[in-house]
Amino acid sequence: MLPANYQKLYNELTTKLEPKRVITNELELLTYGTDASFYRLVPKIVVLVHSEPEVVFVLQLSEKYDIPVTYRAAGTSLSGQAITDSVLLVATHNWKKYTISDNAKKIKLQPGIIGGRANILLAPYSRKIGPDPASINAAMIGGIAANNASGMCCGTSQNSYNTIDDIRIILYDGTILDTSDNDNKHEFSQKHPGIIKEIEQLKYDIKSNRTLHERIKNKFKIKNTTGYSINALVDFEDPFEIIKHLMIGSEGTLAFISDITYNTVIDEKFKSCTMMIFETIEMACEAVPFLKNSPVAAVELLDRDSIRSVENDPDAPSYFKTIPESVCFLLVECRADTIDELEAKQAQVRNSIVSIPTYKEFEFTSDPKQYNFNWKARKGLLPSVGGMRRTGTTCLIEDVAFPVSRLAEACIALKELFRKLDYTDAVLFGHALEGNLHLVFSQDFSSDSEVQRYARLMDELCDIVVNKFDGSLKAEHGTGRNMAPFVEKEWGEAAYEIMLRIKNIFDPRQLVNPGVIINPNPTIHLENLKALPATNEIVDKCMECGFCEPNCVSEGLTLSPRQRIVIAREISRLKATGESPELLTKLSKRAQYYSDETCATDGLCALVCPLNIDTGKYIKELRYQNASESDKKIAARIGRNMSMVTSAARFGLNSVGVFQSILGDSLMNGIATGVRKISGDTIPQWNKNMPRGASKITQLSVNEISERKVVYFPSCINRSMGKAKGYEKEDVALTQKTEELLKRAGFGIIYPTGINNLCCGMAFSSKGLKDEGARKSEELEDALYKASEQGKFPILFDMSPCFYTSHENFKKYGSMKIYDPIEFMSDFVMPHLTVKSPRKQVSIFPVCSVKKIGMEEKLLKLSKMCSDEVILVQSNCCGFAGDRGFLFPELNKYGLQDLENQIPAACNEGYSTSRTCEIGMNEHSHVTFKSIFYLIDEVTK
Ligand SMILES: Cc1cc2nc3c(=O)[nH]c(=O)nc-3n(C[C@H](O)[C@H](O)[C@H](O)COP(=O)(O)OP(=O)(O)OC[C@H]3O[C@@H](n4cnc5c(N)ncnc54)[C@H](O)[C@@H]3O)c2cc1C
Ligand code: SF4
Ligand code: SF4
Repeated sequence: MLPANYQKLYNELTTKLEPKRVITNELELLTYGTDASFYRLVPKIVVLVHSEPEVVFVLQLSEKYDIPVTYRAAGTSLSGQAITDSVLLVATHNWKKYTISDNAKKIKLQPGIIGGRANILLAPYSRKIGPDPASINAAMIGGIAANNASGMCCGTSQNSYNTIDDIRIILYDGTILDTSDNDNKHEFSQKHPGIIKEIEQLKYDIKSNRTLHERIKNKFKIKNTTGYSINALVDFEDPFEIIKHLMIGSEGTLAFISDITYNTVIDEKFKSCTMMIFETIEMACEAVPFLKNSPVAAVELLDRDSIRSVENDPDAPSYFKTIPESVCFLLVECRADTIDELEAKQAQVRNSIVSIPTYKEFEFTSDPKQYNFNWKARKGLLPSVGGMRRTGTTCLIEDVAFPVSRLAEACIALKELFRKLDYTDAVLFGHALEGNLHLVFSQDFSSDSEVQRYARLMDELCDIVVNKFDGSLKAEHGTGRNMAPFVEKEWGEAAYEIMLRIKNIFDPRQLVNPGVIINPNPTIHLENLKALPATNEIVDKCMECGFCEPNCVSEGLTLSPRQRIVIAREISRLKATGESPELLTKLSKRAQYYSDETCATDGLCALVCPLNIDTGKYIKELRYQNASESDKKIAARIGRNMSMVTSAARFGLNSVGVFQSILGDSLMNGIATGVRKISGDTIPQWNKNMPRGASKITQLSVNEISERKVVYFPSCINRSMGKAKGYEKEDVALTQKTEELLKRAGFGIIYPTGINNLCCGMAFSSKGLKDEGARKSEELEDALYKASEQGKFPILFDMSPCFYTSHENFKKYGSMKIYDPIEFMSDFVMPHLTVKSPRKQVSIFPVCSVKKIGMEEKLLKLSKMCSDEVILVQSNCCGFAGDRGFLFPELNKYGLQDLENQIPAACNEGYSTSRTCEIGMNEHSHVTFKSIFYLIDEVTK
């Protein structure tokens, strides 16, 4: 039950917004109560806004009912600034528009665009946005600007504060200010003369206080995100310039950012890096000012403990294990537009530190293996602590900055503090040029004594940073609730007073993200701590960072991987504590659809998770636990009678195909949808792209006389499904097409004995029926081993997902070589064929398994051999996911919502390597997608 004023707000909101975008159910509220910080506040209402008028509508109602609102982008914040127990306004989907102008020197971005995506858009112009947080592939522009996030290379000169060109904001009362529009600015001055006047007064007050003026200037010489960007009041005269810059780093506490225009920066093409090792931290830090005056792009400091945490990596040099305890590393990066320039820069860097001896000789490298290892070592520090930590504990990152001249002293003081308080797993690293240090360590919040240990750490950390070094308590990650109690301590009374006035100017009724940056509660940093209870070891190490969300097909439709884990943890907690059986029932019931049924189990989440967590694998495990004995028995029966099942499928598809020809697509669709409804959605959804049945494989060997042999394993799907309606040009099913193609390339084809009964097992294991899945996989492995004469001949799979499943499962015979369709065509077939009539334009779609085995580039190359122009479909997973597309067609529709926009109207051919995905692609585009084997066959005939 909502409190009365929230209920009124809800009622009014739903008069204009679709009810599904005004969320009040327990499951989704809980998932939105999570960001990457170690705090949790569960909102009462979540509003998914799609436009400026909707934001204005929500804000005006929030004012009317006196209800606070917090803005949310990707929710990767670490300091507790993107959560609320009131109304959460999420501006992500539908906030992805952009404009590139002035020869890509400027880019205007809406807040829902992921930072990495902005850089992809700018890449063709060799430009990028300035801010470069390590979270750039998940964090969105709204959050990057509002947190003034920064990273390894951007320093203070290329952060949002220094690269902002213009901004469009919405104030608490719905007023829009667009700093790029003079008319709008004029209107704003008329409507809010008080704001302009007070900004001018603030500026005047600071100017009149010499000490404060100097303090502000000095403190921003190093990175600082504690409190507001009050340097705006020192750096600019024009009130609109001041407002624009105050918004940066304001953590959504002053206004909603509707769009921001950045001045872009050069993205140099050539890069090299080196690991410089110094005998002591002092020597490494002594080198930093010299490096700062040389042409470096980044200097990352890594302490000895950091190196220890990556010394077992297979790519790590052996000396990592034997270097003395006292050493300290600097990872130094150079970037340039030409190789000559890069080499000249490297030489300059080397010369700049000749006076400081290194423990070991160092060389710059651009070799991908070494270069990538160096950065992997640096970027792997968070996962290495996160992955080693005890289940139930949290992985914390402190983010402080010191004057560069005192960096060595500061490092030693911090390490001593962590030793004293027994944080034994802490590693220290950071952006040395900016004096910015991060400490990553695990923290238990489950007992009072542990919370008190953390409280002591915070107090002593603040003492060191503020009293000893006059540094920044938050350099990059924002103040949030975590540092709110210490803002005044860091800045002093006069500066804090200025910050209070800023908050009151823009948010007089304290309704915009209250409690963040400014918070009178001295222990707010110790409240609302988030529990991370054990739920399943596949996901127990999850840090709730949110990096996986952009890769997930169901994010925004139902849940993201992070949100699935949040729910799993809460369900486990409720089960263990018996706290609220009612809530447990509600969550469990809704989780069935939200968490389980709409997970494609494609595992793309694992590709971007710092800890490689595959939430799809966890969902399969859940399905296994929930599978009944009778499900398992049926699976075993199906598995043993695959031949009959594929025959029945062929018969069924052919019969449906007959009806389709007689009734036509739309009548057939109407009847099928009706039947599905009556069945309570248990009968799969028919669609017009359902294929006809295939013909049975009857001959075990084709073109026997050829010396060049291949074992061909047609998947059970392709053995059942023949050509689809709409495949006007092809007169044969895929199995037959493959035979023809292989024969033309001079191959003799061997089918494994018992082919009609074989299957990779994926159809079973993806439903949690892993025992039968494993049995089918082993049966296939044995059959292929025999057919390939103990691994003598290569084995071709005609569907990437089946190849991937077998590639993961096959363990018995080391000598056997199995091939994905793309690899086999590229390496074995194309060398024996000539492309005679390339297509003008085709679209290709790399399915999830292709992405997981890193075969995208090869698919692109292969397609480019066959077509003058290739359009690479960018969707993550199509959401068809084996049978999900039949059972939950909304997932497929959602996954492919952008498909049609990506393919030009003139392009009517699409190719891929998975039959079921192709059915979904056909359903949601004007293109007929089919196996790439058809393309290869046609252009080489
Ligand atoms: C593993 C990890 C590594 C990280 N590394 C870095 C790093 O190297 N450097 C760094 O600076 N940060 C880092 N972060 C922190 C975080 O990713 C960044 O601060 C990021 O910019 C936050 O963006 P977001 O889209 O997730 O924003 P959110 O977390 O959703 O929101 C951030 C803030 O912006 C506000 N906000 C969101 N949208 C709007 C809007 N439209 N208008 C106004 N206010 C809005 C929110 O209210 C909130 O206060 C890291 C986080 C993680 C988990
Ligand atoms: S699954 Fe991985 S990427 Fe996703 S929130 Fe957890 S730790 Fe982060
Ligand atoms: S397996 Fe796919 S659908 Fe499931 S959580 Fe991971 S990315 Fe999302």
